[in-house]
Amino acid sequence: MEDYTAEMIKDMAFSFCPQCGTAIIPNHKGRPRKFCSPECRSRWNNTHPKPENWKTVRSKICPVCGREFSYRHQYGLERKYCSRACANRGRGKEAKDAAVEY
Ligand SMILES: [Zn+2]
Ligand SMILES: [Zn+2]
Repeated sequence: MEDYTAEMIKDMAFSFCPQCGTAIIPNHKGRPRKFCSPECRSRWNNTHPKPENWKTVRSKICPVCGREFSYRHQYGLERKYCSRACANRGRGKEAKDAAVEY
């Protein structure tokens, strides 16, 4: 580990670790790092849910029972009903002639 003065670190620092505030110096590969250490990264991730996960949580009104429910939007699948029971009832209404799965 080379000896950097505080002044040098200030000039070189790409950013500061959001977990502990340590100045982060880009490594020689030039890849910007967000955290000073893997420990800080996992600590941060444990206390801060990822914003991309917030986006995937949707809330909807169930068309069968009228209750509001929230669900996680994944793999492009839309959830339409709050529960399986409502899904069965809703699908039954949508396609009267279709065979009902039980
Ligand atoms: Zn840190
Ligand atoms: Zn429902």
